[in-house]
Amino acid sequence: MKTSIIGYPRVGSLRELKFTTEKYFRGEISVEELQNTAKEIRKTQWTLQKNTGLDFIPSNDFSFYDMTLDTAVLFNIIPERYTKLGLSALDTYFAMARGYQGAAGDVKALAMKKWFNTNYHYMVPEIDDNTEIKLAGTKPFDEFAEAKALGITTKPVIIGAFTLLKLLRYVGKKQATDYADAVIAAYAGLLEKFVAAGAEWVQFDEPYLVHDLTSEDIALFETLYQGILAKKGSGKVLLQTYFGDVRDCYGNITALAFDGIGLDFLEGRKTKELVEANGFPQDKVLFAGLVNGKNIWKNHYGKTLEVINTLKAKNINVVLNTSCSLLHVPYTLKNETKLPEKYTEHFAFAEEKLQELAELKKLADVDYKLDAAFLENTSLFATRPDCRNNAVQERVAAIREEDFTRLPVFKEREAIQKKEFALPVFPTTTIGSFPQTADVKKNRTARRKGEISEEAYVEFNKKKIAEWVQIQKEIGLDVLVHGEFERNDMVEYFGEQLSGYLFTEKAWVQSYGTRCVKPPVIWGDVSREKPMTVDWSVYAQSLTKKPMKGMLTGPVTILNWSFPREDISLKESTYQIALAIRDEVLDLEANGIRVIQVDEAALREKLPLRRSDWYKEYLDWAIPAFRLVHSGVKAQTQIHTHMCYSEFTDIIRAIDDMDADVITFEASRSDLLILDSLKENHFKTEVGPGVYDIHSPRVPSVEEIKAALEKMLTRIAPEKLWVNPDCGLKTRGVPETVASLKHLVEAAKELRKEA
Ligand code: GLN
Ligand code: ZN
Repeated sequence: MKTSIIGYPRVGSLRELKFTTEKYFRGEISVEELQNTAKEIRKTQWTLQKNTGLDFIPSNDFSFYDMTLDTAVLFNIIPERYTKLGLSALDTYFAMARGYQGAAGDVKALAMKKWFNTNYHYMVPEIDDNTEIKLAGTKPFDEFAEAKALGITTKPVIIGAFTLLKLLRYVGKKQATDYADAVIAAYAGLLEKFVAAGAEWVQFDEPYLVHDLTSEDIALFETLYQGILAKKGSGKVLLQTYFGDVRDCYGNITALAFDGIGLDFLEGRKTKELVEANGFPQDKVLFAGLVNGKNIWKNHYGKTLEVINTLKAKNINVVLNTSCSLLHVPYTLKNETKLPEKYTEHFAFAEEKLQELAELKKLADVDYKLDAAFLENTSLFATRPDCRNNAVQERVAAIREEDFTRLPVFKEREAIQKKEFALPVFPTTTIGSFPQTADVKKNRTARRKGEISEEAYVEFNKKKIAEWVQIQKEIGLDVLVHGEFERNDMVEYFGEQLSGYLFTEKAWVQSYGTRCVKPPVIWGDVSREKPMTVDWSVYAQSLTKKPMKGMLTGPVTILNWSFPREDISLKESTYQIALAIRDEVLDLEANGIRVIQVDEAALREKLPLRRSDWYKEYLDWAIPAFRLVHSGVKAQTQIHTHMCYSEFTDIIRAIDDMDADVITFEASRSDLLILDSLKENHFKTEVGPGVYDIHSPRVPSVEEIKAALEKMLTRIAPEKLWVNPDCGLKTRGVPETVASLKHLVEAAKELRKEA
């Protein structure tokens, strides 16, 4: 049996690419230096993969920013406003990714969206009627040649034609089908070039196939691949799917001339059933996704081998694969020096997953039941130390129906709060964090390393809080925040104080571009030992009469941005966390904090890809979990929530059902659809659609913000509208933050005059 992976992380095991790219952005290093770092990372990874005995080694899974953007650029899908800047190819690419403001012009970045059901974000390429899709770039070929020069024949991976067309944003009149011929020609050209370069296999990633598909979708897919596969010559094509099963098109895809089909046996709940019921063509290779590309837990060899053997018994030609790209897991346990082995022996990151593949490969070809590696793996699953807390389990079991409902009802609360706070119309606020400047990070690092006393650490943060309270007052914001200087990120901070959590040192996972997150691990039952944020908020509130927002992360986001347990249900884990956050909310309220924001930045993250599963599999417990957090507060206490995206028109009722008083969300990069939908659905919650994009260093003008607000006012009642940026400002610099917020407040003030 052979082994394969779909892709590998690419930021470098110690985030080398991130740091080097950021240096390049700051103009501190040359493009050659950046390219060299990238090359070094690729070489290290290919060599590692080869040395572990991996049979199908991917290439072109590397990216300077994002693979969807890479694919768009490869096929010449570059909006004119970027080419017009006249920058180098790489800088044009970065301008699309991050926006550009400088001597050559001023353009915003492309939109960014969540990559399927992961916490990775991709750039949404934009296409207009004048775009000529053609094979224009050389990146995949260059990387293939680079590996070849190292003696490694890789399997190039590329986002497939169908998924690409489905992810594009069409800004002209033309639609996906209008581009079918051009796309076929471009992909066929790519295949020909790879065959000529000596590639044996080419992998086309088509995760879009795991959605609910229409018959038009399937027809488009068939048209595209009939065209592309006609040109494959002696090359072999692997159709790779992941994040679910292909129940809508299994028959269609197996009937096409693919040489291999990659199916996800883990998230694809119906995959096994599909293969067993319909069979699998003898002339194709089944790349069976059985090693989880998303979780950090060791593979259960017994279960995996059982599936492999069932497939083999059907005479299916099986290659053992990961369930999705390893992009979604950290690099290696070798960087973890502090966690006790009794825990880490249950873990497998990317590098360890390569080891698992190698081990499984050996076991699959022998009578494994008595093999030492197999027995060791089996015994591991029989033990899980320190994970049970009876008090927590009893508390979850005792939750009553009324614990999910806040009283009085929204309308009454809204009236009470309007009086209580007496804010101006279009109240201004921010989402929570202020720039995490070098000194802020240094203070936290010094504390972590024990280089400074707890007092010195707290003193520094208090100074920062005071500084920023002053800045906010001067700018004239209405509802203030303390700035989150104590937080590395919005989940780890809470996880560190909750019991049941484990922390890694270097287990970074790419979130978007150069941004990485280090999700904590939910190991056991979760509970709160003591207040987590009260001191900071109380101190910040003592500096101002204006309302100071308490700042918490919600249970669904904490769950979704952690590596979850697999031995209890997600629902149960989430309710445990919800009870802990509920205690914190009540403590904040008891200590004089009158506005409390509970971020649910990642609420949509685990929304099933198939609409039919949305409620019963997820929203039916995720939304109640949020309500459990705030149902105990007084009518006078204003509960805010925040989401990092605006695509919730389709779950708008569920969002309103969270029953928050105010919701802020990302909106500056998206169109008016969300506003239409708020209006149509008589959305009751007050809303702050972000007026400018915080992912980019650009400073929006007053006019621009005013124009955005005026647009919003065509759909949102003035008494419901809040004015705020898209998201937290932690990744921004100080000058641009202050300048942007001044413009924001100015825009709100001008609007008030006109109201
Ligand atoms: N309160 C958090 C912040 O401002 C929210 C971050 C987020 O939504 N990702 O940073
Ligand atoms: Zn956000």
